[in-house]
Amino acid sequence: MKFKRKSFRPKTQQPTEPKHCYFCTTNMHSIDFKAGDMLRRFMNSEGKIYPRRKTGTCARDQRTLAEAIKRARFLALVPYTTRLRRRV
Ligand SMILES: [Zn+2]
Repeated sequence: MKFKRKSFRPKTQQPTEPKHCYFCTTNMHSIDFKAGDMLRRFMNSEGKIYPRRKTGTCARDQRTLAEAIKRARFLALVPYTTRLRRRV
């Protein structure tokens, strides 16, 4: 019997650029839910909101951002999801 070798992923630290909160650097703490294109920057192509660790948004602004995205979704300015599952 041959044992399958576990796939090994080396734990290399990828050099990352320093993250800055977009809303703090632009001094825009009241996030406009009508600015759909701006909100799309913080979502992936499927419509999920990116986590803080990925965008570098600070905790306060991430809360405001999530609220703004949810309002924009309700007004259909940004999608809830783009993945459509069809049952045949
Ligand atoms: Zn911030």
